Amino acid sequence: MKNEVFRCGYVALIGRPNVGKSTLMNHLVGQKLSITSRKPQTTRHRILGIKTTEHAQIIYVDTPGIHQHARRAVNRYMNRTASSVIADVHVVVFLVEALKWTDEDEIVLSVLKKVPVPVILAVNKVDRIKRKDELLPYLQEMSRKMNFAAILPVSALAGTNLKQLEEVIVRHLDISGPYYPEDQLTDRSSRFLAAEIIREKLMRSLGQELPYALTVEIEKFEEQANLYRINALIWVERDNQKAIVIGEKGQRLKKIGKQARLDMQKLFDRKIYLELWVKVKEGWSDDERALSSLGYRDES
Ligand code: GDP
Ligand code: MG
Repeated sequence: MKNEVFRCGYVALIGRPNVGKSTLMNHLVGQKLSITSRKPQTTRHRILGIKTTEHAQIIYVDTPGIHQHARRAVNRYMNRTASSVIADVHVVVFLVEALKWTDEDEIVLSVLKKVPVPVILAVNKVDRIKRKDELLPYLQEMSRKMNFAAILPVSALAGTNLKQLEEVIVRHLDISGPYYPEDQLTDRSSRFLAAEIIREKLMRSLGQELPYALTVEIEKFEEQANLYRINALIWVERDNQKAIVIGEKGQRLKKIGKQARLDMQKLFDRKIYLELWVKVKEGWSDDERALSSLGYRDES
């Protein structure tokens, strides 16, 4: 007979763009749910990652990044995040990058100082540190910034210290049964996840060549026996962008399709038949584009 308590609750992953929030969530949940890349605007939507163990259900909330130069937007976004996400969670994990402290980190800190929930500081990317003796003074400097519930050096990529991080998080959750069925991994549909995987491959493959106007629309998502048949449209704004996405002799689109299919096969655990089409859609308003590229679009 088990008499250990079960805990459950929400954990917000907060930090400036590119610090590793989505990578951390994927590693903690053990599935690639949130797309990642070197580009700051990768995560556009709030997404839940649900990890259920024998003793706890941890519901991670991954939040969108924001444009590095949009200082006022940073504030606005952080304030909104503070009210809409942070207010509803049991604990916050504040991510920073080992040995770095930027103006954007400072803005995030100023918001977190005002929240009523415990804040755990996760010092990420420690795998990159060449001289290990530099870490301790950095951790000491961080400990003076605010009263953190804990400070942990981690590597979201290599998996370093993530078990410890999970243990600390669980201590701050409520004593409660699970909120979600134990086999549920996210609040997003397979259709949504499929579109996001394609967008990740596009962002990783296109470098600076393509603006953020690009969107992916799943036109067909059919379940057949033990395979998914997926048709997706990649929307761009101009013919020359279409040519870039397709690449010489269709090579780039082929590669994007192959990489996306492999990721989907892993995530959905079945065969995937994927067809990609690139189409030009003109007349997006600048406002609309700017908003969606910044991840400000309100999702249902
Ligand atoms: P986000 O914008 O905060 O969600 O950041 P991402 O999760 O998209 O990660 C941004 C970049 O940092 C990606 O290229 C990741 O591979 C990289 N990254 C994330 N965590 C680590 C880490 O622990 N070590 C290293 N070396 N790179 C990392
Ligand atoms: Mg992200």
